Amino acid sequence: MAEFVCEKCGASKEGRCKPKKCAACGGESCMVKKEEKKGGGGGCGCGCKAGKK
Ligand SMILES: [Zn+2]
Repeated sequence: MAEFVCEKCGASKEGRCKPKKCAACGGESCMVKKEEKKGGGGGCGCGCKAGKK
């Protein structure tokens, strides 16, 4: 699962593929993939995403 964020309003949405439109503001082509940080940063590195809702 990847996370996408709207550049216009900042709404985030999870999905397998990039949304065409933002469900919050209706903007098109404004959804960008939120890069997941890998390796380092103090995480446990196992992918459990501790602390994430
Ligand atoms: Zn938006």
